[in-house]
Amino acid sequence: MADDDYLALLDRAKDVLPETIENHERFELPELDIIQEGKITIFKNFIDVTDKLRRDPQHVLQFLLKELGTPGNIEGRRVVFKAKISPMHINEKIQNYTDTYVICSECGLPDTKMVKEDRTLILECEACGARRSINVRKAARVENVNTLKEGDIIELLITDVGKKGDGVGKLMDYLVIVPGTTKGNNVHVKITNISAKTAFGMVTTEASTR
Ligand SMILES: [Zn+2]
Repeated sequence: MADDDYLALLDRAKDVLPETIENHERFELPELDIIQEGKITIFKNFIDVTDKLRRDPQHVLQFLLKELGTPGNIEGRRVVFKAKISPMHINEKIQNYTDTYVICSECGLPDTKMVKEDRTLILECEACGARRSINVRKAARVENVNTLKEGDIIELLITDVGKKGDGVGKLMDYLVIVPGTTKGNNVHVKITNISAKTAFGMVTTEASTR
C-alpha cells in the first residue's frame, strides 16, 4: 500500500472515531524536581507543575503549606519551603491536590475548571461536562485560610507610622507597610511583597477587588 493511501485511510479512521479517543493520553505531571538544602527545601519546577494543572500557583501553594504545616514562598518558578521536607511527602500532597481540585471523577481527564456557586466550589469538566462539588473536608482549610498574596488589592486603614516614616496598617495577622501614607489614611493598597507576616504595598487607584 502506498504511503498516501495509508495516510488517507488513517484520516478516514479518525473521522469515524469519537473525539475523546484521540485524547486518551493519561494525565501525567512533570516529575517533581525537589532538593533539600540544609534547613530548607526547594521545589524547583513548581510553576511547571501548576501550569500543567492549570491552577493558580497561589492556590496550590496555600494547599501545600497547610498540608505540610510549613511556611514557604514562591520565588520565580520555584517554591522555597522553610523546613526540611521529604520529596515523597510533597509528591503525595501534589497528588492529593490533583485528585481533589483537578481530575474529573467521571472521565479522569484534567480538563476541568473550578467554579464557585453560592458558597460551594464545583469542579466542572470541560471534556465530558460532569460536575462535582469539591470535597469540602479537604478543601475547607484552603478556602478559608486568611492569607495575603502579592498582587492583592486591599483596603487599609493606616494606624501607625514606622521608624522610617512609612504608614503601617494591620490586616488579618499581617503588618502592612505602605510608604507615602500617614496615620489615619484609609487607602487602597496593592501588595507588592510579603515576607512572613510583614507585607509591603503601594497606594493604588485601582478599585478594591474584595
Ligand atoms: Zn470529565
